[in-house]
Amino acid sequence: MIENQAMYKISYGLFMLTTTDGVKQNGCIVNTVSMITDEPKRIVVFVNKANYSEKILRQTGVFNVSVLTEKTPFDVFKQFGFQSGKDVDKFADKTYPKTENGLYYLPDFANAVISARVVDSYDYGTHTLFVAEVTEAKKLSDDKSTTYEYYQSNIKPKPQAKKEENGVEKWVCKVCGYTHEGPLPEDFVCPWCKHPASDFEKVS
Ligand code: FE
Repeated sequence: MIENQAMYKISYGLFMLTTTDGVKQNGCIVNTVSMITDEPKRIVVFVNKANYSEKILRQTGVFNVSVLTEKTPFDVFKQFGFQSGKDVDKFADKTYPKTENGLYYLPDFANAVISARVVDSYDYGTHTLFVAEVTEAKKLSDDKSTTYEYYQSNIKPKPQAKKEENGVEKWVCKVCGYTHEGPLPEDFVCPWCKHPASDFEKVS
């Protein structure tokens, strides 16, 4: 059997992925970035096809990865993770610095930025695996990189177990904190983070 609880023990980091569709830049949050070869320096990144970034990355092949630190506030995850670049300009709130490839990175809550160019991509159904060659890499601080587990225990707000109001049941997404009111359909998909009903827990 495959226990989800066992799969959850794999540790991940958290990163902001920047891409551009030619008109505006887009950022999204990803948890899988790994270096695979040292010479030349190559990295892999998995991107969910539900993300607008996946589509534009397949077309342009150029991206930045900002390595997020433990100091990253939840608002950054909301701004870049829980809304789609199709609908909003996520970088509209202030001026962001750019790397040599012209793409933005996150200066305040990343300890490094890595620019890369896609050399291969593989279609794995829900996700695309991009293999990319590093073109620039810059250290920004000595703050500790956050893990997905650190985000879950220290950055993401705790679901508040409220008293049942008028008998309406409440379900909270364990991944992003989104609250759904009323019975949770089996095929429910979280509107913020796109995780399935199995990642929700009943809080009232
Ligand atoms: Fe969610």
